[in-house]
Amino acid sequence: MIRHTTLAVVSPEPIMRRRIATFDHDLMFRRDLNAGNIRFVPLDDPVNEIRGMTYVCPCGCGGVSHVIFKPYGDFSWNCNVNKPTIYQILYRYVGCKWIGELINGEFIW
Ligand SMILES: [Zn+2]
Repeated sequence: MIRHTTLAVVSPEPIMRRRIATFDHDLMFRRDLNAGNIRFVPLDDPVNEIRGMTYVCPCGCGGVSHVIFKPYGDFSWNCNVNKPTIYQILYRYVGCKWIGELINGEFIW
């Protein structure tokens, strides 16, 4: 089995074009952004608290996924925006069905 890696690079612009509260985001694509682009959200929150992360699928399909950090969601991370690690497996329910991990700023699958 081939091991793939893609660097997680913080996107200079929001990846989501609008705030989405449901899993509708699985239908979103950003093929104009690089695979592995990430964006911590919300960056513009008044309390400056990062509650989740949006990422462009590392596989290259352009699919956008979103994870929500505890206590608001199920995911936990190392609170390092430069070398993020998420302690759960990442996956897409639809489309490419990508499954992988984000460890020390690198997507691995
Ligand atoms: Zn994909």
